[in-house]
Amino acid sequence: MPHNAAVINPLPGRALDAPALLAWYDRHARELPWRIGPRDRAAGQTPDAYRVWLSEIMLQQTTVSTVQRFFASFLARWPTVAGLAAAPREDVLAEWAGLGYYARARNLHACAQSVMRDHGGRFPGSAAQLATLPGIGTYTSSAIAAICFNEKVAVVDGNVERVVARFHALARPARAAKPFIRAAVGAAVPARAGDFAQALMDLGATVCAPRFADCRNCPLANHCAARALGNPLGFPVASESKTRPKKTGHAFVFERADGAVWLERRPETGMLAAMTGVPGSRWAEVDAGPRFPQRGSWRHAGEVTHVFTHFELTLAVWHARAKSPSGQAGWWSPRAGLAAEALPTLYRKVLEQAGVTVKARADKNPTLNGRIKRKSAPSRP
Ligand code: SF4
Repeated sequence: MPHNAAVINPLPGRALDAPALLAWYDRHARELPWRIGPRDRAAGQTPDAYRVWLSEIMLQQTTVSTVQRFFASFLARWPTVAGLAAAPREDVLAEWAGLGYYARARNLHACAQSVMRDHGGRFPGSAAQLATLPGIGTYTSSAIAAICFNEKVAVVDGNVERVVARFHALARPARAAKPFIRAAVGAAVPARAGDFAQALMDLGATVCAPRFADCRNCPLANHCAARALGNPLGFPVASESKTRPKKTGHAFVFERADGAVWLERRPETGMLAAMTGVPGSRWAEVDAGPRFPQRGSWRHAGEVTHVFTHFELTLAVWHARAKSPSGQAGWWSPRAGLAAEALPTLYRKVLEQAGVTVKARADKNPTLNGRIKRKSAPSRP
């Protein structure tokens, strides 16, 4: 199918049917810890903007089931935006460790401080104002404004893109068709803007999912073009795939006789900024070989590979015993304290490869998963 073709339009009068979608949502809304369900909302309950904001930041690039674990521990530790704003940034980064995309954690903290400093401790009530806060882009500002304040704005995440691409049988990849998708959603937003936004998200997560389309139980089926064509899974059409560049580097794990590990704070800018790691080389497309930070009996412990959004990284892991690394800024972390360090997944893999087990945090267990009615598909691309 040509990517530059216009929209296929085999059925006349096609528009997202908001009443049908809302009626479906009233029966099938997912229960999520940050959400006020349609019944409670109709009874007058309003969503807490702090909880909605926190969940929306966490959900970027992350599945609902993973987010629930982190959301619960964040909320237990910082139940209000004031508490989060007052927390040391290192504590926020440590709590975020394992969720990935760490710029989100730095912006989360900066945003909480801005809400306290510039907005009297309350999230502003419009998408335009919300978009001025750190870490809040077009999607997140629209989602918070719709869900919390019923602002009639188009909320378009990966799930919504897929639903609309199928509904209109768009012949372009969803990314290229985004302006059309936003316009199609924006034209259909009813007075219950927050419920409508969440209904479309839920439909994409549970009925019109990436690998299946349960058209028989879909409230949009009557006017859906992909269904009429008999090819729901043919949409959205795939983007031209790009191969991810590869980078390599070396990571050096110093271990003391009592099992403590030498850690360091990464630079304030760049990948994994301000997170905790171990000493290492630059990451480059051409491997310059290991430049050991000091002499010692270095053992090659193997390699780890980690996929970032824009490149794939392979690190050779080296391990040595040491009393105190010379010329290295950092600290010894005892084994028992490693779980509380702001170690991103990459460095957890490195430590595991070197034979250092990092235990999972007890408060990240999935106790809240039982509140989900259905198995959740990833909510974001
Ligand atoms: S009818 Fe099928 S393809 Fe169309 S929106 Fe519903 S589930 Fe998706």
